[in-house]
Amino acid sequence: MAVKRDNIDLIVSASELTSLFDKKSSLSTLLQDIAEMVAEHMAADVCSIYLYDQLQRELVLRATIGLARSSIGRVKLKPGEGITGIALKELRPVREARATKNPAYKYFENIEEEKYEAFLAVPIKKGLNRIGVITLQHRQPDYFSKRDTAALKAIASQLAASIENSQMLIGLRAGKTGADDFSNLMIQGTGRGSTTAIGRAYILSSRGKAYNKRPGGKKPFSPEGADKIDVNIAAFDSALELSMNQLEELQFNVDDSLSDVAGMIFTAHFLMLRDENYTGEMRNLITTGHCPDDAVRQITAQYVDIFEGSDMPGIQEKVQDIKDLEHRLLANLYGKSFESADYSANIIISDDIFPSELVKIWLQKARGLVLYGSGVTAHISILARSLGLPLFMTDDRRVMSISEDAELILDSRSSHLYINPSDEIKVSYKTATAAEAVAVKEDIPGQITTTDGTGLKIQANINIIHDVDAAMDVKADGIGLYRSEFPFIIRNEFPSEEEQFRIYQKILRMNKVGECIFRTLDIGGDKMPGYASLKAEANPFLGFRGIRFSLGHPEVFQEQIRAMLRAGAGRDLKIMFPMVSSMDEFNKAKEIVAECIISLESEGSELNSSPLIGAMVEVPAAVGIIDNLSAAADFLSIGTNDLVMYTLAVDRTNERVRGMYKPWHPAVLRSLQTVAESAVINATELSVCGEAASDSNMMKFLIGIGVRKFSVDPLKIPGMKRFASELSVSDCRSFAEKALAAETVKAADSLFCC
Ligand code: PEP
Ligand code: MG
Repeated sequence: MAVKRDNIDLIVSASELTSLFDKKSSLSTLLQDIAEMVAEHMAADVCSIYLYDQLQRELVLRATIGLARSSIGRVKLKPGEGITGIALKELRPVREARATKNPAYKYFENIEEEKYEAFLAVPIKKGLNRIGVITLQHRQPDYFSKRDTAALKAIASQLAASIENSQMLIGLRAGKTGADDFSNLMIQGTGRGSTTAIGRAYILSSRGKAYNKRPGGKKPFSPEGADKIDVNIAAFDSALELSMNQLEELQFNVDDSLSDVAGMIFTAHFLMLRDENYTGEMRNLITTGHCPDDAVRQITAQYVDIFEGSDMPGIQEKVQDIKDLEHRLLANLYGKSFESADYSANIIISDDIFPSELVKIWLQKARGLVLYGSGVTAHISILARSLGLPLFMTDDRRVMSISEDAELILDSRSSHLYINPSDEIKVSYKTATAAEAVAVKEDIPGQITTTDGTGLKIQANINIIHDVDAAMDVKADGIGLYRSEFPFIIRNEFPSEEEQFRIYQKILRMNKVGECIFRTLDIGGDKMPGYASLKAEANPFLGFRGIRFSLGHPEVFQEQIRAMLRAGAGRDLKIMFPMVSSMDEFNKAKEIVAECIISLESEGSELNSSPLIGAMVEVPAAVGIIDNLSAAADFLSIGTNDLVMYTLAVDRTNERVRGMYKPWHPAVLRSLQTVAESAVINATELSVCGEAASDSNMMKFLIGIGVRKFSVDPLKIPGMKRFASELSVSDCRSFAEKALAAETVKAADSLFCC
């Protein structure tokens, strides 16, 4: 029998594991070798490795030394089932002197396990992410010591990273791009949206990194060679012509409701194709004997380098244009269908995307978007939602090595991304998607009241003109928040007063019911237009954002206010300032509105000269001065998205502290009540426009403290209307009382997390 090693460091060294990776060609042989190595080092009779199948939510035996080999793939345990399942569920080692005496012991027939009494199970985990369990067994009862537990923990932690990466490493070594080895792999991330996308992967490589892989397909033109030049030039020219025709058609078809963000988006592409420096250079390369596709790639790569090297963000943004064009030219060269020149069948994977690029890929019919890394701004996710583009965000870098054309299922509701899913998963998603497509739109209530007769309004938060239709479709009781910064962020320059006027006028005309609250620019924080040459800030969320930005750039602010006042001529107009943190800011902003009214009047313009002026309550300072603010403002709207973040000092975009972002934290609940009370005392209209309002318990609480108006993402409106019309104000009041009595987060959790 092997003798146990004493030194934990020597038990399984990193280099030993690496040497296993060097030779192996499949995960199962790799795991089997690891089990053998660990059994030997730990002088155990049995070593088994179970991997956790996130999809089926079960542990599956993947390798074993000592148990019957036939049990591999057959022995399955739910988290919490058996000693192994407990180790996984509770993420802790379990050491048993006599396993069969443990009530949790689970007997499996024909695996010859019962003769091994001593049992040690250690979870393989990465943080809270469950990867699997490694177990050791021995005939001699009480064989394993505390020291063995520590040793096996050390091994498990090495295994965690290795197993996570193994599929990718093995795939890369096999000379593939990894797709085959990502078979039936599911990655857990963060989803945004309420839909599922099924499509083929298309990697929009990051700025400054390796460039796209080739699409497959038969080349309908000749290989390189001077004698083939004529054929190749003809193939290139017809692909070019086809691309120009497609772009013209695309531009022509851009819906009017996208005029605020899509502008002349494809005209820029069109002009680039006509640019002799770009396509002319491609043609030159072909005349020197290059294949047309190589010419397209080479010249595109040169331009990408030039654009990426530029210090000007506006120029960097052109990288995507040029990549779009490469995609289109290649698809047309390869003779693919019209659709494949767009991203119609694709789920785009990227690690960095500008809002303008998001609009472009959406217009080119991308089915979904997978974003890797931490560069996802609030505006990217808000915009994706507005466009109805399913979005999946992850820190799992395997997504960047998915092969082009790999099959993907992106489920933005469950926040799962499946790579090359099994037939079973594909069928179940296809059936579900088809059912969703034919589902009759259930009846959405119009005006709602509580069961005891109090009227409630559920309005829409909108970001682009396109959202107004969505808001009307779900019977929103008006627009409680228009985030006016989107046209500023998506386009490559600040829109002029005239352009803004047309956007605001269109929104007011399209909004058929209720009011519309225009919020002035809220840029800064993570909502920064790339072209604004503003100093990088160490703490942008605590920096020059919201109303501070507008007051610091009065020329920009005045143009926006003038556009709003003009658009509001002959209608009710409500203007609201974001991020107000003092009366000084509020008063100053109001003064600018008054000045704009005077100047428009003196110019003889048509305008609304008596707009209602409101403030967002989204920083704790506004809560501190709430009595003054509610006395001075015509209306208030609580922005819980930010208020929660600033009250709790929890960054709303930081995944690591996501668990601490709790709108029901006692400090937040009490702030909300303070604001609600003050609004009642001052008879100031109050609404809540943060997404917390769409949480059912938060809604109960808010109704309980007196809030009667909510504004949320249009997608949430039908559910909220149905839910709210079944509530009674008296029940909500008792719930709010209980909630306000909670002293700890735990106590609040028990009320809100059920
Ligand atoms: C908020 O902070 O709650 C809010 C509605 O504003 P935004 O999400 O645009 O910051
Ligand atoms: Mg906000």
